[in-house]
Amino acid sequence: MSKKLLVVGGGAGGPSAAAKAKRLDQDLEVTILQAGEHVSYAA
Ligand SMILES: Cc1cc2nc3c(=O)[nH]c(=O)nc-3n(C[C@H](O)[C@H](O)[C@H](O)COP(=O)(O)OP(=O)(O)OC[C@H]3O[C@@H](n4cnc5c(N)ncnc54)[C@H](O)[C@@H]3O)c2cc1C
Repeated sequence: MSKKLLVVGGGAGGPSAAAKAKRLDQDLEVTILQAGEHVSYAA
């Protein structure tokens, strides 16, 4: 069974945590739940 991670919040901290978790385990299925219209973006 694949491991799943649900991150609540797509501001600064959410995507940062999601990216870190994915780097630690590439098989992890990560979903970000964002209430607002925009998620954070960094080039
Ligand atoms: C006026 C102002 C100016 C600032 N200026 C700067 C600056 O110049 N430089 C700087 O480094 N920092 C600045 N900050 C601080 C910076 O915005 C915060 O430190 C940073 O955004 C915190 O990130 P976070 O991910 O913890 O929270 P947030 O950015 O608040 O992200 C949380 C996200 O979770 C979402 N959310 C909340 N509840 C739910 C839910 N139930 N389900 C799904 N999604 C949900 C929200 O929509 C939001 O997008 C400023 C803050 C303010 C208020």
